[in-house]
Amino acid sequence: LPKLPVFEAISRHDPESTVVVHSNSGRTFKYGELLGDVWKTRNRLYETAGKEDLDGERIAFLVENSYDYVVTLLACLAAKSIAVPLSPAFPAPELQYILNHSEALLLLSSAKFTNKAQEVLKTELDSEPTLLELTKFQGGSQHEQVTLDSKSGPGEAGMMLYTSGTTNRPKGVLIPQSVMTAQARSLIHAWEYTPADHLLHVLPLHHIHGTINAIFTPLFAGSSIEFMFPFNPDAVWKRFAAPFLPDTSDKKKITFFTVVPTVYSRLLTTHKNLPDDLQTATRKAIAPSNLRLAISGSAALPTPIKKAWHELSSGNVLLERYGMTEVGMALSCGLETADRVDGSVGWPLPGVEARLVDIENNTIIEPGQERDPETGRERAGEIQLRGPSIFREYWRNPEATAKEFVTDEKDVAGSKGRWFKTGDVAVRRPAPEGAGKSDLKSQKDWARGDMYFILGRKSADIIKSGGEKVSALEVEREMLSLPQVAECAVLAVPSGKWGQKVGAVVILDKEHVPEGKWTPLEMRRALKDRLAAYKIPQVLKIVDKIPRNAMGKINKKNLVKEVFADEFS
Ligand code: ATP
Ligand code: MG
Repeated sequence: LPKLPVFEAISRHDPESTVVVHSNSGRTFKYGELLGDVWKTRNRLYETAGKEDLDGERIAFLVENSYDYVVTLLACLAAKSIAVPLSPAFPAPELQYILNHSEALLLLSSAKFTNKAQEVLKTELDSEPTLLELTKFQGGSQHEQVTLDSKSGPGEAGMMLYTSGTTNRPKGVLIPQSVMTAQARSLIHAWEYTPADHLLHVLPLHHIHGTINAIFTPLFAGSSIEFMFPFNPDAVWKRFAAPFLPDTSDKKKITFFTVVPTVYSRLLTTHKNLPDDLQTATRKAIAPSNLRLAISGSAALPTPIKKAWHELSSGNVLLERYGMTEVGMALSCGLETADRVDGSVGWPLPGVEARLVDIENNTIIEPGQERDPETGRERAGEIQLRGPSIFREYWRNPEATAKEFVTDEKDVAGSKGRWFKTGDVAVRRPAPEGAGKSDLKSQKDWARGDMYFILGRKSADIIKSGGEKVSALEVEREMLSLPQVAECAVLAVPSGKWGQKVGAVVILDKEHVPEGKWTPLEMRRALKDRLAAYKIPQVLKIVDKIPRNAMGKINKKNLVKEVFADEFS
């Protein structure tokens, strides 16, 4: 196998230690089996393609969350090709789009998805990928046979992930293995993954959160990953509880859990209905001394969820971080409880350089210039990033690539001088007392100053109303703190008078609004002490459901047109 850093790391881990557990069957796989299976699978890729060289070729795959997924991903890297993981939940047109767009040479499927793969191949495709059904891996391969060859350089290997498609059609983001490696190293530094960590994995595997944070990084660190899919809140609670119940006390303790806010929300709602013994065991399982790290990201974490989790777990404070497909993880709160400041996504991760560029006048907000000296107002800026963990290009889309990067004139040419424009807006505030002051070596070695607070997407969350700018995320945060509000989305609604006005779509909390009626006047009154008058939504729609994508995110452009259709004439 080529001598990629991830293979070197895997070959150094204790071969007897667990790499993957299938949660439902209890089946476990060891680190010592992994590279042997990767090697065999890589050879099958060459055979199927009938080529000796797969450098840079796209290999798409439909494989369930399992040991086989891990082997398949690594086999693509081993062939120096570009792995394109597909979601089994995608409807045929979505799969077709990605196969066409990536111009995949091979389509791999596990037995479970062969029918689905065949269906897609029957439709008209620009390229005609060859189908390979992967046989179930039995484990048991010994990796002593596998040697890492330093002469066979890293090639073009990497991964291509599609963005969540929250704002537009998903974009193909090329993530070379060197970038994947930089992302993993940065997370290991900040979050201290170790071989003692056992992750419960319930995320989709075609996004950065599920692949880099919850697979690639643990593989580097020698941690173990337990797959449970599809996500089912009761099953998750049972699994958390298992080591603390007499009959299942041999199960491994979950020490690491990383999911999106909507997952925490569903867990919290279902917890109330668990039988008493499970309630007690799960509370113990998620206490800070057992669940070392519970992380939230991919969308803003509502404070009530953070509070409720804290209460339920007797002191486990969710760690919020910010990332995106193009950059991996970029900002994160720290390991100490005091570092996990409400509403903040923390500091630039080790190796990541971040800056804010004022959205009003396009100037860099240097440290110390966070407030406008004349008005005293906080300056909101777009987050721009650079460093070895940032992607370099969208797949075959030089226009988008050129648009999303800026090169400073005074910078040296080349990628070092290029900043990626995330399209997300934030403010920087001094860290509260005690935050960012850990004595842990890892945290001390991670330079931290002021903290970042996300205001939202420039394109959808910054509402321009009568010369003022309102952050939808800030309004959502306050609305979610009201007992009447179970879920909400704050939107920019077109307005003849103001340009845009603040609109809110709300799912009511039935316990607190039993009749299901809440008038705009009542809403405004409830928010009066929490928000400046111009930030309080002017229009309100009560709904039963707010549509979200696989990562729990809302396409606001579509939602606003749907819900406030009458305002668009
Ligand atoms: P698309 O780019 O296709 O519209 P997307 O931006 O949702 O979809 P991802 O790359 O999966 O696709 O998501 C990255 C985005 O998620 C970020 O740009 C940011 O807007 C949002 N995000 C991630 N973490 C957080 C967080 N902690 N708080 C607020 N927003 C977050
Ligand atoms: Mg995006």
